[in-house]
Amino acid sequence: MDDCIFCKIVRGEIPGRKIYEDDEMLAFHDVNPAAPVHFLVIPKRHIPHVMALEKDEAPLLGRILYKAQELAAALGCAEGGARFVINCKADGGQTVDHLHCHVLGGRALGWPPG
Ligand code: AMP
Repeated sequence: MDDCIFCKIVRGEIPGRKIYEDDEMLAFHDVNPAAPVHFLVIPKRHIPHVMALEKDEAPLLGRILYKAQELAAALGCAEGGARFVINCKADGGQTVDHLHCHVLGGRALGWPPG
């Protein structure tokens, strides 16, 4: 998508603090971190939100979640744990319309969210 900010990070048109990249996904630090560890894992393919996921894309989401927990552990969250969040559309608090999994850790997080 031409005007999607995360697609622009994928294409290298705007900078991102990349943590991990392969053929199908990219992980990078959130520009406005809400916790000591806060990064995003996204599919490189533009999927607007999790409710737009096609059935044959479900395994990709599994691989994204698997990589997210691996990276969380590598960034120091193995013992304390982390939160893995996918916001979806307006009521879910989604502000960037490109599917992304937040990973937040490094401190105790409250629940439920506001
Ligand atoms: P959401 O509200 O779930 O759509 O989350 C979008 C997240 O993307 C927010 O936490 C933003 O801080 C983050 N974000 C927006 N632009 C960038 C960027 N250029 N690089 C890294 N993170 C970004």
